[in-house]
Amino acid sequence: MSLKGSCLCGAIRFEAKGTPQGVSVCHCSQCRRMSGHLWASAYVKDDELTIFGTPQWYVSSGTARRGFCPTCGSFLFWKHDAEDTTSFALGAIDGPTGLTLQKHIFTADKGDYYEDADGVEQK
Ligand SMILES: [Zn+2]
Ligand SMILES: [Zn+2]
Repeated sequence: MSLKGSCLCGAIRFEAKGTPQGVSVCHCSQCRRMSGHLWASAYVKDDELTIFGTPQWYVSSGTARRGFCPTCGSFLFWKHDAEDTTSFALGAIDGPTGLTLQKHIFTADKGDYYEDADGVEQK
């Protein structure tokens, strides 16, 4: 399996090989601020993800960083320092992903202006 994606302006492209895991939508305050609403992602092993171009990395906590396009600002990657995986934005994938949402995470932090009613597990 191979998924390709890019930022809005095309300066950053990526290809994820292997089977993406952890298909989720995150409602945490950091993802909300960085994306403007929610952030949908999946992850693959670091060696299954090829990034073309040079994203800028924002150190968002003591354990994780967030990669975005320095030109257009698209929020594309999330990386935990202690894990050998990188999450990539599902919204940036070219064409159909073939994936199905598995869970909502950090729903306790969600905004008050919407409800989750899609029947997918919430954590
Ligand atoms: Zn861009
Ligand atoms: Zn989040």
